Amino acid sequence: MLYESTRGSLNKKTGAQAIIRGIAEDRGLYVPEFIPALPISISEMVGKSYREIAKVILSCYFDDFTEEEIDYCVNSAYDEKFDADDMVNIKKAGDAYFLELYHGKTAAFKDMALSILPYLLTTAMKKEGVKEKVCILTATSGDTGKAALEGFSDVEGTEIIVFFPEDGVSLVQKRQMVSQEGKNTHVFGIKGNFDDAQTGVKNIFDNRTLVGELKKNNVILSSANSINIGRLVPQIAYYVYSYVKLVERKVIKNGDKINIAVPTGNFGNILAAYMAKEMGIPVNKLICCSNDNKVLTDFLRTGLYDIRTTTRDFKCTNSPSMDILISSNLERLLYIASGKDSQHVSGWMEMLSLLKLYTIMDSEMLMEALKGFYAGFSTEDECLDVIGKMWSENEYLMDTHTGVAYKVYEDYLKETGDNTPTVIASTASPFKFAEAVSKAIGLEEKENGFEYVKALSDKTGVKIPAALVDLDKREVRHKDVVEITEMEDAVKNSLAIK
Ligand SMILES: *Cc1c(COP(=O)(O)O)cnc(C)c1O
Repeated sequence: MLYESTRGSLNKKTGAQAIIRGIAEDRGLYVPEFIPALPISISEMVGKSYREIAKVILSCYFDDFTEEEIDYCVNSAYDEKFDADDMVNIKKAGDAYFLELYHGKTAAFKDMALSILPYLLTTAMKKEGVKEKVCILTATSGDTGKAALEGFSDVEGTEIIVFFPEDGVSLVQKRQMVSQEGKNTHVFGIKGNFDDAQTGVKNIFDNRTLVGELKKNNVILSSANSINIGRLVPQIAYYVYSYVKLVERKVIKNGDKINIAVPTGNFGNILAAYMAKEMGIPVNKLICCSNDNKVLTDFLRTGLYDIRTTTRDFKCTNSPSMDILISSNLERLLYIASGKDSQHVSGWMEMLSLLKLYTIMDSEMLMEALKGFYAGFSTEDECLDVIGKMWSENEYLMDTHTGVAYKVYEDYLKETGDNTPTVIASTASPFKFAEAVSKAIGLEEKENGFEYVKALSDKTGVKIPAALVDLDKREVRHKDVVEITEMEDAVKNSLAIK
């Protein structure tokens, strides 16, 4: 399996090379040459563990890795670090199946991919004979940063630098990041939003002078954002796994369809669901769920991607990990579903960067592909309402991102009456967004934001994830806040390059 760029570069890469590089030299994203069919049938997967299914999926995409290498990566990543039935839980509440993806070390779904990425990357470096140090550059809307820091902390041959929007993450998310230990970890708040952080990081990748300078100092750059194919592929596994488990539990018969609802920001998690569908998992609708930053809702409904300030403002919401207007992984969908029309994809991306909009309305093929999605959004109040209602009616606690997904799922039900069993990607522990969730279930206000974590647990009896216990008592180790224009210098300083 080789990887090609969404923007048409003819320079194909192996899986290992694509993981190391992160982003293609023409700024495109790596995609597999084709989406492989499931190599074994669903009935053969029934009874298999999470690890076994993850191995099946990873082997399809990274066939340049040996079986031993895949085993090593999967076994090292997916172990008792995860506090769940089998890495994830699938819980029924109300009329939906919640695929709880947040039982890893940092209490968000990002752990599913970022606990394995360091192993994939270091294995890839060995395979390719890379002698340089790899510096992982990451922009985060809150959860990727911490999960990447945990994954790469003190991993030999790597440095990790994280940029987060200083005023755009939750209190818990921020403290998780700035208290990170490990001598190769570097964390910066930036004076800007997530899109600024992401664009800043992309610009650094693009800056030939800087990249050359780093190379002279024996450092190459890579990415832990979902633009890295090494993040996307592991995420396919849990959608396959959840289908298999629903068959096992006799919720569905093998071959029946399911819907999958995903709270979306960078379109990574829902793209993984799309790929699971293309591999052969029977899916009726992919339900794409946005918060007030509903650029994807509008796009999937109309074919117009429009982020002009005359159309919309960037909003800071209670589901900050989805406060994104430039949704990177959408580029992969456009490429795959247009039958690899890299010329148009490059054009659209160029337009987005220059004019802040593009339309795919004249591509029949893409407009057809969009019909596989239902798209909707939830306002702040609607999200808190469904969290409160879900708690009072079912004693099931959702975080704000999952709440957004549930609200959109409810709208979908109302609109369509479709009773296909629906899996909801449940992306974070409610304790990561304790203040908003406490408000949603009617707890009284607290003076110190961290008090909500304990109050929420006291009130609901839901256990605080180990990673978040006594978080407020952890030492703040990273205090730097930089301007967007200072990101390059921050990278150089972190790597001790003059
Ligand atoms: C990152 C994140 C999302 C959005 O995932 P994408 O892959 O960017 O679409 C949703 N919820 C939570 C809690 C997240 O951390």
